[in-house]
Amino acid sequence: MGLLALGTALSWHESRSYNDRLKTEGIEQLLAVFKAASKRDNDTLFWGDEIEYMMIEYDDSEKNAMLDVNDDCILKILNTDDLPVCNANDVHFHPEYGRFMLEATPLKPYEGYAGNYVEYNMNKRRFVAEKKLSEITEQKSKARFGFLTLSVFPRMGCDEFINVPNMWNHKNSASRSLFLPDEVINRHIRFPTLTRNIRTRRGEKVCINVPMYKDHNTPKVDDSIYERDCFSPEDQESALASKPGFIYLDAMGFGMGCSCLQATFQAPNIEMARYLYDAFVNFAPIMLAASAAAPAFKGWLADQDVRWNVISGAVDDRTPQERGVPPLLPKSNKNGFGGISEEAQSSSKRIPKSRYSTVDLYLGGNKFFKRSYNDTEVPINDRVMNRLMENHIAPLDFDLAKHFAHLYVRDPLVIFEEDLQQDNQTSTNHFENIQSTNWQTLRFKPPTQDATPENKKVPGWRVEFRPLEIQLTDFENAAYSAFLYLLAEFFLTFSERVNCYIPMSHVWENMDRAHHRDAVLEAKFFWKDRFDGSDDCTAKEYSINEIFHDEKNGIFSTFIIPILRHKRFISKTWEELKNSSDHVRLFHYLKLISDRASGKLPSTARFFRDYILSHPDYKHDSKISKTINYDLLEMCDRITHLDDSRNEVSMFLGQEIGDYITNNVLFTYR
Ligand code: ADP
Ligand code: MG
Ligand code: MG
Ligand code: MG
Ligand code: MG
Ligand code: MG
Repeated sequence: MGLLALGTALSWHESRSYNDRLKTEGIEQLLAVFKAASKRDNDTLFWGDEIEYMMIEYDDSEKNAMLDVNDDCILKILNTDDLPVCNANDVHFHPEYGRFMLEATPLKPYEGYAGNYVEYNMNKRRFVAEKKLSEITEQKSKARFGFLTLSVFPRMGCDEFINVPNMWNHKNSASRSLFLPDEVINRHIRFPTLTRNIRTRRGEKVCINVPMYKDHNTPKVDDSIYERDCFSPEDQESALASKPGFIYLDAMGFGMGCSCLQATFQAPNIEMARYLYDAFVNFAPIMLAASAAAPAFKGWLADQDVRWNVISGAVDDRTPQERGVPPLLPKSNKNGFGGISEEAQSSSKRIPKSRYSTVDLYLGGNKFFKRSYNDTEVPINDRVMNRLMENHIAPLDFDLAKHFAHLYVRDPLVIFEEDLQQDNQTSTNHFENIQSTNWQTLRFKPPTQDATPENKKVPGWRVEFRPLEIQLTDFENAAYSAFLYLLAEFFLTFSERVNCYIPMSHVWENMDRAHHRDAVLEAKFFWKDRFDGSDDCTAKEYSINEIFHDEKNGIFSTFIIPILRHKRFISKTWEELKNSSDHVRLFHYLKLISDRASGKLPSTARFFRDYILSHPDYKHDSKISKTINYDLLEMCDRITHLDDSRNEVSMFLGQEIGDYITNNVLFTYR
């Protein structure tokens, strides 16, 4: 993505009159893509990861670690003056929601199994970014700065959590949050507009109630909520929206300010992309639980371990009507229609889930799929459904049409005036407007109209895996990426004989359970008894340990070992990799994931939670003070840079992995 183009972003009230037109044109653009690209075949298994970073300032005298919102110029520099450096290092930097955030990918996708290169490339991304940040900051400040890959900043929204003096001198008219000034939001007009338009369409501030971890001195209510009379009516909402026993969050930044690890895989053709997508569906909740790294929000320990439902609530633009609840303040949100125009109110319908949520529908299109597996309530846009199925351009089958018709129950969130006129034969702008603001656990990524079967220079049909929590070290992030890659290669290799379907309602249930504190050890998840080519879709409940390690239907025995054998990396067990000549690092990747699944190693969430609970400054009130946060983030910084002088790397990743990675660095950061 690189830098975003400048433009005039329309407010919700200006943009909503274009909604129908943009959706109609977006669907024409999609049909043009299908016409051009549905016959594409034999595309290479290109793939790539995305990593999201937080810029941190460490104030050693005050013992405070803050989000750095002053140095966002770094993105522009890395995409202009320093572009040659980035290109030479095969790294690429992208904007993210937070002004304190940066996203980075490899410049060129990997081709097939990429061994140690993935981690090496992650090392270089971090190195290039940190070097630039220190150049920018050393001219103006004596403080220390750095990048961390944290799923959530534990004191997001607390006093002095960003490095702006007197942060409440600044109005926050975009989010109107009681806790987050608009300085957390990326300065590009797209991001404050997204924030404002979501709130306006919804007719209320967004609202997330995260279960609070209960210790003996924990207050009964979130006592950080305060009375304010700055924005009417939003300032009256919080008392009504918050619930006793929950941490109350009221802004998009609490969610989109979280970081994650994503990976995108290209399939040889559209049928295989659909198959891969469907095969990954139930891996999303399992891998979310197995990567848990978010135990704290807004300065409180939470009674959950992952970020997902926080983001889900943070961008939930549904009106009270669509959610099926009464408005918080009926006087200012008449009949709960939020910002829906009067003409559109009669066609407003109930929408069970936020536009950021788990996958809604299998895509089907293969011999194992049965329509009955899509057994949840999923509204569709009937007009889109009809057009996609009945046209002379490229008619879609029912199941694929339904996928897009569901995405199209959402409205555009940001429309740029300059983008209103598009050539539907060459642009996918309007299609992407809806597609890219449907944030599901997986994304089915169609190509563009120039992706004809002959034109291999542009990407084909891809599937993105999105639920993973980001991990502290490049080693861990490379491990989860390698694991996903092996799964993807397995599915693309053995698609003829592997059936992964379970009823979608079980997947939704798994997603809920993946949030529970220590779900990785304590929750049970729906998982199949058998993955052979039979059409049995029965699922039973298993622990994560069983799901990874069961001899009969576990992930290692069913998927990882067969693909490693197929690749001739091993003959019997994955542990053989330890003594191989080329794949010792892969052994440690798999060991990390295996040991976390069995509980031999703590999840990142558990490790952070234990650190907080045992900190001398902790008062058994579930609160994370500045000092605790500072010490925690300092430790994170050492672990990230593989500094094991205090034995923290070895405690976190175990002695064996700790020794291996500190003795076998791929790249020296400092
Ligand atoms: P988005 O934010 O839409 O997911 P990004 O550009 O941030 O897109 O990330 C896309 C990822 O897909 C990157 O890691 C990139 O390396 C990878 N990628 C690029 N081209 C291909 C391709 N043809 N097939 C698969 N992955 C690709
Ligand atoms: Mg991206
Ligand atoms: Mg991102
Ligand atoms: Mg994000
Ligand atoms: Mg992505
Ligand atoms: Mg993106």
